[in-house]
Amino acid sequence: MEIQLPENVRNMIRQLEEKGYSAYAVGGCVRDSVMGKVPHDWDICTSAKPEEILSALEKHNIIESGLKHGTVTVKTGEELYEITTFRADGEYKDNRRPESVRFITSLREDLARRDFTVNAMAYNEAEGLCDYFGGMEDISQHIIRCVGNPDQRFQEDALRILRALRFASRLGFEIEEQTAAAIRRNKNLLRNISVERIAAELIQIVDGDFAEQILLDYPDVLGVFLPEILPAVGLDQRNPHHSYDVWTHTVYVVVNAPHGKVMRLAALLHDIGKPKCFTIDEKGIGHFHGHPETGAKMAVKILRRLHLDNHTIKNVETLIRYHDQRPKPEEKYVRRLIAKTGAECFLPLMELKRADTKGQNPATIPEKLAYVNAIEEIYKKLTADGNEFNIRTLKLRGSDLMEMGVAQGKAIGDLLNEMLELVIEGKIPNERKALIEAVRQKINDSPHTG
Ligand code: ATP
Ligand code: MG
Repeated sequence: MEIQLPENVRNMIRQLEEKGYSAYAVGGCVRDSVMGKVPHDWDICTSAKPEEILSALEKHNIIESGLKHGTVTVKTGEELYEITTFRADGEYKDNRRPESVRFITSLREDLARRDFTVNAMAYNEAEGLCDYFGGMEDISQHIIRCVGNPDQRFQEDALRILRALRFASRLGFEIEEQTAAAIRRNKNLLRNISVERIAAELIQIVDGDFAEQILLDYPDVLGVFLPEILPAVGLDQRNPHHSYDVWTHTVYVVVNAPHGKVMRLAALLHDIGKPKCFTIDEKGIGHFHGHPETGAKMAVKILRRLHLDNHTIKNVETLIRYHDQRPKPEEKYVRRLIAKTGAECFLPLMELKRADTKGQNPATIPEKLAYVNAIEEIYKKLTADGNEFNIRTLKLRGSDLMEMGVAQGKAIGDLLNEMLELVIEGKIPNERKALIEAVRQKINDSPHTG
């Protein structure tokens, strides 16, 4: 097995070797290379201690921030390389990463503390591939398997539970039986992991190209930190529009949604309100009245709990709140929907609606997709002249308002948004003169403004 190392990596390995140390490319970059993928970054491990790395690589641009953890970062152009001393992990506390590390000289021991066999391989030109734990075999069989005893490994660091789901979701691998059983036995240890790290893994899990099987197989694991999804699992919708239970439907919507944090989180949570809103009518048909509103509120709570940024939360909230809106395919109604979603969320909402459709009764898909296309066509026509229905393309500036005597501050933004809404609804054209006139009228109508 030969791997084409980037020139920078080859140079750094050679410079370390010239000083008598051993050094290898390691981890994700080796995994991706043997799978024929282009690694997004390259990590190096070495027998050199941090100070020794510094002096062996002194010609490089070194960032010392990780030094006390035994990691040296080298910056070459835009590329960052992490060079880490071989280490054995010290005591694990509270199922989180060890507080201390011990520097060692054995590559094999360094690889033994890594999470999965596919991530526990190293490579350099002199020795070729170093694969002590069957990583190659597992890659060829498409298997995620812990290095060593899976229960012990998850108890050391419970984040590995989500890393297993993440790699399986990204690579399309199956989680080996013993590893899978240990994941289920130890899932509650995820309570000891910080919400930031959980959120980062969750986003990658739902964003994976092969998320479908993982989401279908492991809702119980996600349910440790997303208990709101659990009532959806197996919930029969009893409705001719729906062929699947709420969770299965949700999974299909996730994998049919475009990639990206906002889209995939919105898809994951779009029907989170359904279990609470479930009713069965006298004919035995299931309904979920109010679930978008209920779900939007639940999603905000969930995403705040996971410490996501406000912009993401707001967009996910908007997408969920309006995911079930079905305006007539006429300008007037489409304008109203744009006014509700805002320009930023409108096309993403169409994408969510398409994905939602694809997870419903297959017989109804073509008709529903044609409907979404019709709405989107109208939106495109409305925005064709570069009028994107946002503050930036509004033909009125904050400075115009100040010249008219509006006090600087919140009043300016409020007025601009108000004018934008009138433009979106087609009540005034997006023209400076008309907008200034509308503001003037408004100021005259309410003597307290300005
Ligand atoms: P990616 O392509 O997502 O960067 P990666 O395999 O490089 O995947 P990283 O999180 O960057 O993953 O970690 C680099 C390497 O460090 C992994 O390949 C693995 O060998 C090791 N590693 C990272 N986190 C852990 C952990 N929690 N427990 C054990 N080993 C880990
Ligand atoms: Mg990496």
